[in-house]
Amino acid sequence: MTQAPLIHFSHLKKAFGPKVVYNGLEFAIRRGETVTILGPSGSGKSVMLKMLIGLLEVDSGAILFDGRDVTKMNELELYDVRRRVAYLFQGAALFDSLTVGENVAYGLREQNWNTMSDEEIRRRVAQSLESVGLPGIEEMRPSDLSGGMKKRAAIARALALDPELVFLDEPSAGLDPITSSELDDLILMLNRSMNLTVVIVTHELESIFKIASRVILLDKETRSVIAEGVPKELAKSDDPRARKFFHRESRSA
Ligand code: ADP
Ligand code: MG
Repeated sequence: MTQAPLIHFSHLKKAFGPKVVYNGLEFAIRRGETVTILGPSGSGKSVMLKMLIGLLEVDSGAILFDGRDVTKMNELELYDVRRRVAYLFQGAALFDSLTVGENVAYGLREQNWNTMSDEEIRRRVAQSLESVGLPGIEEMRPSDLSGGMKKRAAIARALALDPELVFLDEPSAGLDPITSSELDDLILMLNRSMNLTVVIVTHELESIFKIASRVILLDKETRSVIAEGVPKELAKSDDPRARKFFHRESRSA
């Protein structure tokens, strides 16, 4: 039996005034995959995340999450999607005025108001920090952390709600290659140990080859997906646009 995809963007169209971002976006992601979204700046990668969690409306088409259309959901239903889909926005930072523990607890408190006990919150925060390799740093301040630790803590914040899928929008931006590679190891480990489906926006070819079970390549001209596949094959693809992308990326890396 083939399982229905966890996410399915179907015939999706989105424009901001005259500016078309998507003109028939179509792809699906299955449970357990580690998919990287690749595309030039302005191709709509960040918009994709915001539409998926219902922060931006679509013009037409559907976004099915676990078989249900996000674009038709009310706020209460979207709440449930945002619990099941963890996300790290592009450039997302921790709140400097809060401790790391309070940062990680933030989503838990917001999603559960007063239904979750302080004890349960503490337990989940500790567990979440441990899962990203930062046990016991609850009392530290974000300003005390290195760039790599900040990213891990932000991922811990996203994971505290025990999601099924995590969408990371350029998580390795600004990190040195070694720290970035460690982040890749973490992401792979989370995928395997928590059976977490992972979607990552990245430009780093090294990351793509290391972690992506599949790459989805977006194009600014057609405003849709131009190619998808396992990284090795996509890099050798006959499609000149796909080749060019990998070639250009490898030169700039
Ligand atoms: P990227 O692939 O670099 O993440 P984005 O998804 O951020 O691209 O943006 C895609 C296009 O949509 C860009 O041209 C951007 O200027 C435009 N855009 C994004 N958000 C908005 C918005 N809220 N209002 C108007 N235009 C937007
Ligand atoms: Mg972006």
